[in-house]
Amino acid sequence: MMNAHPDTSEDIRDLYRELILDHAKSPRNFGRLEDPTHTAEGINPLCGDKLRLYLQVSDDHIAKARFEGSGCAISMASASMMTDVVQGLSKSRALAHFEAVRERLTGTDGAINDASLDLGKLQALEGVRDYPMRVKCATLAWHALDSALRGQMMPVSTE
Ligand code: ZN
Repeated sequence: MMNAHPDTSEDIRDLYRELILDHAKSPRNFGRLEDPTHTAEGINPLCGDKLRLYLQVSDDHIAKARFEGSGCAISMASASMMTDVVQGLSKSRALAHFEAVRERLTGTDGAINDASLDLGKLQALEGVRDYPMRVKCATLAWHALDSALRGQMMPVSTE
């Protein structure tokens, strides 16, 4: 007999947990850029997450994104996914992703349904919605991206 509910939300949660753990264990794009055009530091004092983001932007596109730092699994996985996603995007597209992720994690359901944004695996982070403390972990890298692209030199803090 076929399972009547092949895609229970629990299955999806398990899948997402694995994806997050995988990114946390072997973060993509981890390390520093020698010649960044943009950089920003993000701090989440509540959890102790700290990271520095390096971007190389040319022709208004993010050619390379790297990060280094330390923190909980969610903050590291989020930074890993974020750097993966924004490479190759224009600055404005990258910021549109930031807005969409922030809205999804903190806002009301479906406030942003821009089908042109490929959020893909970023949806894995939606599980933190129910845990306000973890939302700061998940959005830290994105706040650093926003800060770097806007050229702010002060460290960005979630507090
Ligand atoms: Zn954290």
